[in-house]
Amino acid sequence: MGDYKKLLKQLENKSNKTKAEKFKKHNKPKDRKSGLSLQKCRRCGKKGKGIISVYNLNYCHQCFREVASNLGFKKYD
Ligand SMILES: [Zn+2]
Repeated sequence: MGDYKKLLKQLENKSNKTKAEKFKKHNKPKDRKSGLSLQKCRRCGKKGKGIISVYNLNYCHQCFREVASNLGFKKYD
Protein backbone atom coordinates (compact mmCIF):
# COMPACT_ATOMS: atom_id res chain seq x y z
CA MET A 1 0.00 0.00 0.00
CA GLY A 2 3.06 2.26 -0.01
CA ASP A 3 3.26 5.37 -2.08
CA TYR A 4 5.36 4.48 -5.08
CA LYS A 5 6.56 8.07 -5.54
CA LYS A 6 8.53 7.74 -2.32
CA LEU A 7 10.19 4.65 -3.68
CA LEU A 8 10.94 6.38 -6.93
CA LYS A 9 12.60 9.25 -5.10
CA GLN A 10 14.79 6.83 -3.21
CA LEU A 11 15.86 5.28 -6.45
CA GLU A 12 16.59 8.63 -8.05
CA ASN A 13 18.67 9.79 -5.12
CA LYS A 14 20.94 6.85 -5.43
CA SER A 15 23.75 7.29 -7.92
CA ASN A 16 22.38 4.56 -10.14
CA LYS A 17 19.77 6.43 -12.15
CA THR A 18 19.09 3.68 -14.63
CA LYS A 19 17.33 1.85 -11.81
CA ALA A 20 14.80 4.64 -11.54
CA GLU A 21 14.23 4.55 -15.26
CA LYS A 22 13.79 0.80 -15.20
CA PHE A 23 11.30 1.13 -12.37
CA LYS A 24 9.30 3.67 -14.36
CA LYS A 25 9.32 1.41 -17.37
CA HIS A 26 8.48 -1.91 -15.74
CA ASN A 27 7.12 -1.44 -12.22
CA LYS A 28 5.21 1.82 -12.18
CA PRO A 29 1.63 1.35 -10.94
CA LYS A 30 -1.10 2.03 -13.45
CA ASP A 31 -2.92 5.34 -13.39
CA ARG A 32 -6.40 4.31 -12.41
CA LYS A 33 -9.67 6.09 -12.86
CA SER A 34 -11.67 3.86 -10.57
CA GLY A 35 -11.23 1.06 -8.12
CA LEU A 36 -10.46 0.27 -4.52
CA SER A 37 -7.06 1.89 -4.53
CA LEU A 38 -8.59 5.30 -5.14
CA GLN A 39 -10.97 5.17 -2.20
CA LYS A 40 -9.56 7.05 0.73
CA CYS A 41 -10.69 7.55 4.30
CA ARG A 42 -11.38 11.23 4.87
CA ARG A 43 -10.36 11.02 8.52
CA CYS A 44 -7.15 9.01 8.57
CA GLY A 45 -6.35 8.77 4.86
CA LYS A 46 -6.30 5.01 4.79
CA LYS A 47 -6.63 3.51 1.32
CA GLY A 48 -7.93 0.25 -0.06
CA LYS A 49 -10.34 -2.25 1.37
CA GLY A 50 -12.77 -1.37 4.13
CA ILE A 51 -13.70 2.13 3.08
CA ILE A 52 -17.39 2.86 3.58
CA SER A 53 -18.56 5.00 0.69
CA VAL A 54 -22.33 4.68 1.04
CA TYR A 55 -24.08 8.04 1.60
CA ASN A 56 -20.73 9.60 0.60
CA LEU A 57 -19.33 8.76 4.02
CA ASN A 58 -15.83 7.85 2.83
CA TYR A 59 -14.69 6.67 6.23
CA CYS A 60 -12.71 3.53 6.82
CA HIS A 61 -14.53 1.11 9.07
CA GLN A 62 -12.25 1.82 12.01
CA CYS A 63 -12.95 5.55 11.85
CA PHE A 64 -16.63 4.94 11.15
CA ARG A 65 -16.95 3.04 14.41
CA GLU A 66 -15.59 6.03 16.26
CA VAL A 67 -17.49 8.75 14.45
CA ALA A 68 -20.78 6.99 13.75
CA SER A 69 -22.60 8.12 16.87
CA ASN A 70 -21.64 11.74 16.21
CA LEU A 71 -23.07 11.42 12.72
CA GLY A 72 -26.40 10.27 14.06
CA PHE A 73 -26.07 6.53 13.57
CA LYS A 74 -27.58 4.52 16.37
CA LYS A 75 -26.15 1.31 17.69
CA TYR A 76 -28.57 -1.54 18.13
CA ASP A 77 -27.59 -4.61 20.10
ZN1 LIG B 1 -9.99 6.12 8.72
